[in-house]
Amino acid sequence: IKWTEGRGWHDAQLVPYAPLSLDPANMTLHYAQTIFEGLKAYRQPDGGVATFRPEQNAERFRASARRMGMPELPVETFIAACDALVTQDKAWVPGSGEESLYLRPFMFATEVGLGVRPANEYLFVVIASPAGAYFPGGVKPVSVWLSEEYVRAAPGGTGAAKTGGNYAASLVAQAQAAEQGCDQVVWLDAIERRWIEEMGGMNLYFVYGNRIVTPELSGSLLPGITRASLLRIAADLGYEVSEGRISVDDWRQGNADGSLTEVFACGTAAVITPVGSVKSARASWTVADGRPGEVTMKLRKALLDIQTGAAPDTHGWMHRLG
Ligand code: PMP
Repeated sequence: IKWTEGRGWHDAQLVPYAPLSLDPANMTLHYAQTIFEGLKAYRQPDGGVATFRPEQNAERFRASARRMGMPELPVETFIAACDALVTQDKAWVPGSGEESLYLRPFMFATEVGLGVRPANEYLFVVIASPAGAYFPGGVKPVSVWLSEEYVRAAPGGTGAAKTGGNYAASLVAQAQAAEQGCDQVVWLDAIERRWIEEMGGMNLYFVYGNRIVTPELSGSLLPGITRASLLRIAADLGYEVSEGRISVDDWRQGNADGSLTEVFACGTAAVITPVGSVKSARASWTVADGRPGEVTMKLRKALLDIQTGAAPDTHGWMHRLG
């Protein structure tokens, strides 16, 4: 779907997957006006297909567009585009359990020019790819690198938007994590380099027995849809769940005195991943016994059961496509 200043949204098309051709002065290549989303379509027990909370992705896409000076796609158009792609061939959606069809809606500037200002032309596209189970061999805890040298996002910046530049800013830290033998980066706040924000592509949760805390939306971390869903599911299951501030010292201290029993990360791709160990330039420690925790696995099952249709959709989160 195209957008042009003065004309609005026009020319929706469903076309075979093919390369895009871009002018070398395409504004996106220079000034990075690009936003995206990620969501999954799951096969349901009756053979039908459903996406998980697509209106939440559509709303976040609008919020990202506002921050990036881009036009806001109506929620119903976003959902209709995703539906059109999935229903084009429902056989694309794999048939069992945690397998899914991953959808990647995105938008970028198509105007040609070197002036630094919001563009006057954009293209909204949705592509899709089948995704296998994230942990085919069983759930495996990740090791994380606390990034104290680099920050991903700062107050007043674009951290709460799903825009390419945030990921570009994270790549050297991700490479550093790999050099340190870690799977993922944990980002800290930009001002004090003390408060836990999120992981490279997932939000974090800290479990203290029956009490569960996730970092509050500081304005520089992504408001994850999995994160928001787990606030509800954890409360449904009787946990005392809250949003708050957790520092690196709280993490280390809670781990040392045994009050912090589990840490996990959550996002569309992995759903829930246990965090097994932590490393920074100054310290390293194992999270509890380093194995997937009971609360982590219980929440993981509760959410996946809703997504795959194994449990009733009591919150009306599943968007059925027949
Ligand atoms: N934080 C970042 C930086 C992400 O890229 C993602 C993935 N979209 C998340 C958190 C988790 O968000 P969601 O649960 O909506 O997938």
